[in-house]
Amino acid sequence: MFDINNLIRENIRRLVPYSSARDEFQGEDAIFLDANENPYNTTLNRYPDPRQIRLKQTIAAIKNVPADKIFLGNGSDEAIDLLIRAFCEPGTDNIVSIKPTYGMYKVCADINNVEFREVLLTADFQPDTAQLLKMSDANSKLLFLCSPNNPTSNSLNKNDVVRLIEEFPGLVIIDEAYIDFSTTESFAGLLDRYPNLVILQTFSKAWGMAGVRLGMAFAAKEIIAVLNRIKYPYNINILTQRTALERLNDTASKDKWISMIIKQRDYLARELAKLPMVKRVLPSDANFLMARFDNPREIFAYLTAKKIIVRDRSKVSLCEGFLRITVGTEAENLALISALQQY
Ligand SMILES: *Cc1c(COP(=O)(O)O)cnc(C)c1O
Repeated sequence: MFDINNLIRENIRRLVPYSSARDEFQGEDAIFLDANENPYNTTLNRYPDPRQIRLKQTIAAIKNVPADKIFLGNGSDEAIDLLIRAFCEPGTDNIVSIKPTYGMYKVCADINNVEFREVLLTADFQPDTAQLLKMSDANSKLLFLCSPNNPTSNSLNKNDVVRLIEEFPGLVIIDEAYIDFSTTESFAGLLDRYPNLVILQTFSKAWGMAGVRLGMAFAAKEIIAVLNRIKYPYNINILTQRTALERLNDTASKDKWISMIIKQRDYLARELAKLPMVKRVLPSDANFLMARFDNPREIFAYLTAKKIIVRDRSKVSLCEGFLRITVGTEAENLALISALQQY
């Protein structure tokens, strides 16, 4: 039987969390003399709701995940860091992940002095499940997966992921930052079946809110409760909560952006493939394309000189020679293609 208490660090299990004034009383229309705030209304003079109740209820309805299975963080990055701090004893425990993938998992592990074990993806960019499980031991507390994966832009095979969820000894975290652009389904549908599954999603990509810093983790309520106990009490500020609530009302814009981006992605992939200097364009399930060049450094410098900034991934394992190109507006994509045609 899976028991979250066997995975939590001892000090976190024993922790008496900070109790804020707003934890003790909830509601509006009261006389608030409990938090030493300035009483004069600036629209920002009060502390934000530490539990983000309205925002979570709105997200719950959109995502079809109950509010008590949702954690909100200052970007997905906060959830990544808190998962490591809650479950990994520095110097003792370890994290397993795929390679190449999003860089923050390793950076957060390094900051927390937690060993990070990477297993190279297969040649078709799928997880090597046997090797990932072989690399895992009793101290492997977290497995980070990313689907669609950054930077390889493909989705991971469902059967491989399910096998990992079923056989990995700790929590399996699936980062779905790019799920809105994917033809594959979110793994969030499996949350009720797997008590060790954590899904990360974000408002930074499809929702057009990278600037507000708001990320989500979906998991069993026991896992969410642990993250809530150790987060900064007011981690999501009022401006973020307010702006997100406004934007979440406008799912039509988000849906329109997604379809325009996917259309532009397919256009860009076709146009890139026509260029003689482009050796390969990877199929993408995300809002970016991986294109391989014989001389990626020169192309990168050429584009930068023309004030077109792409991401050089040419030294990354399995991505040798590749530049990562975010899908822009139609005009931006045209500018990129015409610059490359003139090279
Ligand atoms: C962009 C991205 C994120 C988003 O992180 P935020 O902190 O929510 O902005 C998360 N994971 C991956 C793999 C990404 O590429």
